[in-house]
Amino acid sequence: MNTPAQTQGGAPETQTGVPLHPRRAPARSRGGEGMSAKCAMCLERKKDWNRSDPVCFLEDGPNWNCATLNAIRDICYEGQNPMPIGVDYQYCEDQKYATIKIQDVELNNGNYIGLALWVSWYKSRGKTDCVWVLNDDSPPRKPTEEELLAIINYYNPPTQ
Ligand SMILES: [Zn+2]
Repeated sequence: MNTPAQTQGGAPETQTGVPLHPRRAPARSRGGEGMSAKCAMCLERKKDWNRSDPVCFLEDGPNWNCATLNAIRDICYEGQNPMPIGVDYQYCEDQKYATIKIQDVELNNGNYIGLALWVSWYKSRGKTDCVWVLNDDSPPRKPTEEELLAIINYYNPPTQ
């Protein structure tokens, strides 16, 4: 298997300074009354900072410091040298965007997600402006939590 280059060792930490929980929780299906509109990684993460509460990408309104999106941002974090193979990062007047190659990322059911994940954010704040799955035969669409977790696991395989 062709795995991309890994970042340096050390405790996982997001670019926003909010530590991630290193374990990858399996995606739970949403739906049903009373279900929390938070992703598994947000549910699992303890809030250990003093600023605002996080807003998960599964909640309404602009996300902020969602643990899953932070992990996606870590894949394309601009401070990496070199960037992981498959990540193309661009800087445009403090608006940053990256294309993450995902054509080899497989879901548990054997399906593939698409060709690329396109991510856009402003400076290094906790909000991720856009996350789109790009494919060759369909318009851009929003990824599911399961797809984002598969991409995170592909670029950061869990250590045994
Ligand atoms: Zn979240």
